[in-house]
Formats: sequence, C-alpha cells, structure tokens
Amino acid sequence: MAQKDYYNILGVDKNATADQIKSAYRKLAKQYHPDLHPDDQVAAEKFKEINEAYSVLGDADKRTRYDNGEMDQDGGFGGFNPFGGGTHTAAGFDDIFDMFGDMFGFGSRKRSAQAQQGADIQYTLELSFMESILGCKKTISFSRVDKCNTCNGTGAKDANSIKTCDKCGGSGQVRRVANTMFGQQITVGACDKCGGTGQIVTDHCKACSGKGVVNRNVTLDISIPAGVEHGAVLQLSGEGNAPANPRGRRGNLLLVISVKPSKLFRRENYDLHVEVPVSYITAVTGGEVEVPGPEGKFIAKIPEGIKNGEVLRFRGRGIRTARGITGDLYLKVMVEVPKTISRAQRRMLEDFERECSPRNYPLQKEFREEMDRLFNGSK
Ligand SMILES: [Zn+2]
Ligand SMILES: [Zn+2]
Repeated sequence: MAQKDYYNILGVDKNATADQIKSAYRKLAKQYHPDLHPDDQVAAEKFKEINEAYSVLGDADKRTRYDNGEMDQDGGFGGFNPFGGGTHTAAGFDDIFDMFGDMFGFGSRKRSAQAQQGADIQYTLELSFMESILGCKKTISFSRVDKCNTCNGTGAKDANSIKTCDKCGGSGQVRRVANTMFGQQITVGACDKCGGTGQIVTDHCKACSGKGVVNRNVTLDISIPAGVEHGAVLQLSGEGNAPANPRGRRGNLLLVISVKPSKLFRRENYDLHVEVPVSYITAVTGGEVEVPGPEGKFIAKIPEGIKNGEVLRFRGRGIRTARGITGDLYLKVMVEVPKTISRAQRRMLEDFERECSPRNYPLQKEFREEMDRLFNGSK
C-alpha cells in the first residue's frame, strides 16, 4: 500500500518544523472546515485528508515512522484506509500460511499492548467443500467500531479543541508515589484526567459525541486461499474494532472457517478420498470410470479383475494449496452387483457361470479346500 504524500497535502516542505506543520494545518483546516462548506463533498474530503495528514505529521513519533515508510506496518493503517469515505476495501491476510488449521493461533499472540488494542471480531465464514479446496473470493459485511471520520478519532470538534493534558504533560502516564511501611513505592499508570490519551478535548465532535469512534457497517472483499480447512482461523490484522484510545491499535478480524461436508469427497489433510461405484462387469474386465476431482471430472482406468473395496491412488489429483502442496486422490472401488435383472440377462449370466472353472474363482477354490481339510481330518 503506497503512502499518501502528507507533506504535499499540508503544503509543507519535508524538512518543515513542527510549528510550520501546525500552522499549515490550522490554516487549511480553517479554510476547508465543514461548517464553512455545508454539503460540499470536495471540501469535506479535503478536510478529512488534512486531518489525516496532520494526525501523522503532527505527531513526532508517527512522523518518523511515516518518513521511514513504516506507516503501513506499524501505524495501524495497513490493509484498509480508515479515513476513506467508502469502507468497501480489499483486505489481505498476514502470514496466512502460519494460520492454516491453527485454531488457537490467536490465543498465543503477543498481548503486550492489549489495553491499547481494539477488540478482535470473530466472524464465521461458511464455505462449500469446493470453495474450501479451490479457494474463493468472498464479500463479507459486518458491524464494527471504526474511527470517526469527522474528527479522525480525536473526538474533538477541530484541532483547536485539543489541548495537551496538563496533568500528565501529554505523556498519558502519571507516576503515583505511595508511602508504605517498606518505604516509597512508585507506580506508573494511565493518567486519569485524560484517560491515557495525553490530550484534553474542550469541544466534542458532534458525529461521535466525542468518543472518537462510531459503529459502522463495513464490507470487505476477501480472498480465501485454496486448501483451507474446517475450523481454521484466518486473521486479518487491523480489521477488527478500533481502539477507544486513538493511540492504540485496531483489533483483528478472525475468520473462523466452517466447511460444509461433501457428499462425494472425504478430506484427509490434502488428500481426497472418493468412493466410486463400478459395475460388476467393469470390475471383471477392467475399463474406465468417471471420477470427480478438484478441477472437474477425469477418467480413471480400472484394472481387470479388481476387488470390491480396493483402493487406487492418483498422485497429484488431490488438493492443490496456494503454498504449492499437492495431495493425492484415493479412489475406493465399490463393485455394484445388479439390483434386478431381466430373464434374458439371467440366462446370459447362467451361461457365463457354466463356462467358469475353479481357475476363475481362486478364493472359492481355496475356501472349499480349507473346509475339506477341516472336516475330512487331513489336518
Ligand atoms: Zn468524531
Ligand atoms: Zn493526562
């Protein structure tokens, strides 16, 4: 995701001082303020853009990361644009291959910044069996807590209504000193005056009543990779709820994959198992049968004299994952004995049977010999 040119948006030089950036922002924010341009979409967009640029360049830490091109990785802006008017965006997975079948992956994530992070959202995504093995594109809609676009999450009416918190000096943290019987104890905690944001808002944003976040329905286009398993959890970083504290990170969207079972296939890792009914004659003489596979039907050769329940393996006909893993397809022969036969068919089969000798039926021959040994005492 390419970074926007925030310097250009604010009309300042890359080497501009913090004061120059601030005064450029104030000038532009006044010029494009929505109060001065009611119902003007262009001005509203411009105002948003200016606020977005200033939210980054006005913050020394964010500005450095922006200058280093790190905003997409660390700024919480990755995957989607929280400032855009439309929320219909394409999202990408992170480290998707580490998450295959990883039901518990999200439980082991580092949570050092938990308090700063918005809540994760769990979304159960139903897939047909074929969608799960071939991969698919899905559009999902859900409600989440999003950054308020009007105030860019600050909760303030405009930049002039944001003051640095006098209690914590803008750090968001305060040191508390307690006298205990063991001496002085110093603890550092979130500032109670500003709630850890380091800022005090004097005039609140009307759109979000000063919360900085709003509930919004979002639509995401997502790509499900081929070979995803039932119960797998795919994580879309930063697509969860926005944090209450604008300094925090967004939560993640956890897609819980639910695959409807197939009537034809059974899956085992990346292999597919399919039971194919084969006529009695084909089993005897050998022949060809149509078999379903991930890419469609294919013709499988049945060797002469195959037994019921015998399994044939077709290498590379199983699931082909996005990672390049290819499974096999196992065909289990289910010999079908005709359910009903006509009189003419019966005659033909009886003629056939008369032509048979013990050589045709080695199992029957062996079985009879074993019985004779048992009862004629030859053993
Ligand atoms: Zn707002
Ligand atoms: Zn404070």
